[in-house]
Amino acid sequence: MSRKQPIYEGKAKVLYEGTEPGTIIQYFKDDATAFNAQKRGTIAGKGVLNNMITEFVMTRLAEIGIPTHFIRRINMREQLCKKCEIVPIEVVVRNIVAGSMAKRLGLEEGERLPRPIVEFYYKDDALGDPLVSDEHILALGWASAEELEEIVGMTLRVNDYLCGLMRGIGIKLVDFKLEFGRVWEGDFMHLVLADEFSPDNCRLWDAVTNEKMDKDRFRRDLGGVEEAYQEVARRLGVLPESADIESLNKDK
Ligand code: UDP
Repeated sequence: MSRKQPIYEGKAKVLYEGTEPGTIIQYFKDDATAFNAQKRGTIAGKGVLNNMITEFVMTRLAEIGIPTHFIRRINMREQLCKKCEIVPIEVVVRNIVAGSMAKRLGLEEGERLPRPIVEFYYKDDALGDPLVSDEHILALGWASAEELEEIVGMTLRVNDYLCGLMRGIGIKLVDFKLEFGRVWEGDFMHLVLADEFSPDNCRLWDAVTNEKMDKDRFRRDLGGVEEAYQEVARRLGVLPESADIESLNKDK
């Protein structure tokens, strides 16, 4: 049997050709990067936990009618997804001021926004994913007006749903990043939520202590990174049984 063919290796995942036409396999690595890959490291067991957390979130979102690329989890580190053409925009939603928004606008981290803010970043590592407006997206043809409207609508629904879901397990959803893709069925195209949803691409604060439970622990050298990812998985009810770091570290 021949090994699957990698299509693309990113910072936290490897994409392989899927086992069925029109599919890909997402393999979740333990590698972590921050500050446009200037900081690198590994978070033991992260790939397994992000695979489980993404499966859980994508499944819940599909249940409320958000179309996603997720098909099924294959094993501890891999999931089968629909192949799609990624829209080259990172969509960030913010409920509470943090990270680059705090820095850019000189605001205090932790200030709750009067309403969620949606931001767009152009996906280009060489440029450091610059902040762009809808005007840039439309004028430069990265997405059509109809697509952008649908993307913003879906993003706000995802935010509403996930804010409630996280609140129910004592977590504040501060901000997160989504990616969308185009799936073709014959001559028809539809948008799907793609990529992943995990503590790698959102900010999660404990509702009582405000303790960070996401990649900021790695970015800011706060320690307890593995434990934070495990705690999120545990509260969501998806922490694998007997999940000690050793067993999570195994390949599959
Ligand atoms: N984010 C991401 N990938 C990126 C940039 C940001 O997943 O390339 C996520 C990040 O984890 C956070 C949110 O998007 O949950 C907002 O990030 P921000 O703009 O504050 O940038 P950061 O401080 O992460 O550089």
